[in-house]
Amino acid sequence: MSNRQTKIIATLGPATDDPAVLAQVIAAGADVFRLNMSHGGPEEQAARARLVRETASNTGKEVALLVDLQGPKIRVEKFANGGVELEPGQPFTLDASAEPAPGDDRRVGVTYKGLPGDVKPGDTLLLDDGLIAMQVVEVEGDQIHCETEVGGYLSSRKGLNLKGGGLSIPGIADHDRADIKRAAEMDADYLAVSFPRNADDMIQAKKLLREAGSHARVVAKIERAEAIENLEEIIDASDVVMIARGDLGVEIGDAELPGLQKRIIRAALDQNRVVITATQMMQSMVENPVPTRAEVLDVANAVIDGTDAVMLSAETAVGRHPVKVIEAMNRVCVGAEAHVESLHSERGMNVRFNRIDQAIASAAMYMATHVKVDAIIALTESGSTAQWLSRVRTPVPIFALSALAASRRRMAMYRDVYPIAHVPQGKGMDKVLANVVALLLDQGRVKVGDRVILTMGDRLGNEGGTNSLRLVQVASDGFVDSQTKLDLH
Ligand code: PGA
Ligand code: MN
Repeated sequence: MSNRQTKIIATLGPATDDPAVLAQVIAAGADVFRLNMSHGGPEEQAARARLVRETASNTGKEVALLVDLQGPKIRVEKFANGGVELEPGQPFTLDASAEPAPGDDRRVGVTYKGLPGDVKPGDTLLLDDGLIAMQVVEVEGDQIHCETEVGGYLSSRKGLNLKGGGLSIPGIADHDRADIKRAAEMDADYLAVSFPRNADDMIQAKKLLREAGSHARVVAKIERAEAIENLEEIIDASDVVMIARGDLGVEIGDAELPGLQKRIIRAALDQNRVVITATQMMQSMVENPVPTRAEVLDVANAVIDGTDAVMLSAETAVGRHPVKVIEAMNRVCVGAEAHVESLHSERGMNVRFNRIDQAIASAAMYMATHVKVDAIIALTESGSTAQWLSRVRTPVPIFALSALAASRRRMAMYRDVYPIAHVPQGKGMDKVLANVVALLLDQGRVKVGDRVILTMGDRLGNEGGTNSLRLVQVASDGFVDSQTKLDLH
């Protein structure tokens, strides 16, 4: 049994297409798989989604599928020869006409036809994740004439960002609408929206998703300057936020990232949302079998900051060591978690609850940080109680029992939550709970004498119905009510 709290997200790609490798990646600890809709065709993507489900069901582990929309990412079009070398000072034109000719060393097409209206002389355009920079000299019709500032090799279909943000491009592109339907067909557990500007973008994505018949939760990728300005409303409109450090760092500058990472994590937890830290966490492991010290510290710091999940991109999608990188992440997360101090729940003392399960979860966490408790056991239908419970960082594991596979997969994203398949059994609540404790005892997750908090609804099988909690002690045949006197932490 893994005792890691922080969840690991692995991006799918050619390096995980071998079912044997994927099984090893799952065994090594991947909890969520990201399917990046920016790469591969529809058939390849659907095959990857299927492979995740098949391989996970063979291993018996609950893993979630996160479909990541391409979003309105602006790219340069194709070059005639695959790419060009740009020298500092070299004039270069971005061509926003409807059907640009293949690019050469003087010009290349861009995918976003509204770009000329959004830029003015003096603006800096960043290409290929900021590796190449050019300054706008003049906008002439649909032609943006630039001067190369920082040169390099620019190849076909590389991304383009405007430094400082401010592009008018809509949050949901046409290709995203089609991909949302496909995400629903793949039965995705999460849908990540790329480059949202505000709450409306998230609300719209959620609406399209529901229209397509999906119950997937939505992830807002924070990767535009505008998203920082609208952070609270975006978090409010989302289930999960991702600190998408790749594009965010290009738009706002890398020096802002550490402070923003901490701010976004705190804001997400304060608003009872789930948070992912992403991009280049162990980038050197694309090639190397071990991470650098800086990468070890980066992953550990995200854990200490309080992230729910850490994400791997190229490391697992195209890297040489997809299994070793999961092992390294697992090791580093566990090591860091030993140094996380409990966040006492005073933070939430002034909040008012508008849901009963939220109030119960908050009471449970107040207890868990003020009394010595060995485990929290949540009988949850939708998993929402587990989400509330896991918003407070404590060393106490949360065992979340649900009969619904979709709920269990969703909970694979929540820090410190261990989803367990279980259908309530027995007549009367005492019998149901005794069976639950006996199951956990059997699985070695609790031991006789442990003090545990149980949360449940008195009408089982009712979504969001958690309305009670009990503090009990594990006994060999179930549980006994806890002694009156409690020893403290
Ligand atoms: P991407 O998003 O990998 O889809 O670009 C993550 C990021 O920008 O950090
Ligand atoms: Mn991105």
